[in-house]
Amino acid sequence: MRTPALLKKLYSSLYTRFGEQHWWPAETKFEVIAGAILTQQTSWKNVEKAIENLKKKNLLSAKALATASPSTLHPLIRCTGFYKQKTKRLIDVAKFFQKNNSTPTREQLLELNGVGFETADSILLYAFNQPVFVVDVYTKRLVERFPLPVREENDYETIRFFFQSNLSPDVKLFKEFHALIVELGKNFCKAKPSCAGCPLERKWYVFSCVGAPTCGF
Ligand code: SF4
Repeated sequence: MRTPALLKKLYSSLYTRFGEQHWWPAETKFEVIAGAILTQQTSWKNVEKAIENLKKKNLLSAKALATASPSTLHPLIRCTGFYKQKTKRLIDVAKFFQKNNSTPTREQLLELNGVGFETADSILLYAFNQPVFVVDVYTKRLVERFPLPVREENDYETIRFFFQSNLSPDVKLFKEFHALIVELGKNFCKAKPSCAGCPLERKWYVFSCVGAPTCGF
């Protein structure tokens, strides 16, 4: 099977099982941006609490956060961990977006304090509808286990380029695909995989896989 067809089949297997994921759950563009910082190294449940706290204090905008004091923000986002670092990152990002209304470039985002590839790409895809494929720990895990022609790679940019060059640049597809991979990672493809019943389990497909526990087409 050619790689684009393989990825399409992978996507439709996940979509059929998990359905639409409705990502990113946010009311404003800036809420997505703040969420992308807050979600670093924590669960989404903790991010929801912090977002709620910021909303209650009317602090969830670039204008409000850019001038907020760290001591005000610390207790509001403490639940997300690394709260001192994240406070600084939120303020820096807010200052940037207060000055810049247009879609940022990837390079501009990567220059910001604490913004790496995954955060920058999440902001571009989910806040600014740019066709950039987000690679996270769940994507890397899937790539490592599922027989895709990029499985030896663990490098962010190589994996991102693999998805982008084998899929049409469809923002809706990229948003949904990433969210579905996260769902797969949370439910089945965990650090210790629970392959029984996984939508990618090999018993459904004709090809054998190379090295992966049980998945493949
Ligand atoms: S079959 Fe197992 S290793 Fe393969 S994607 Fe599913 S959970 Fe992960």
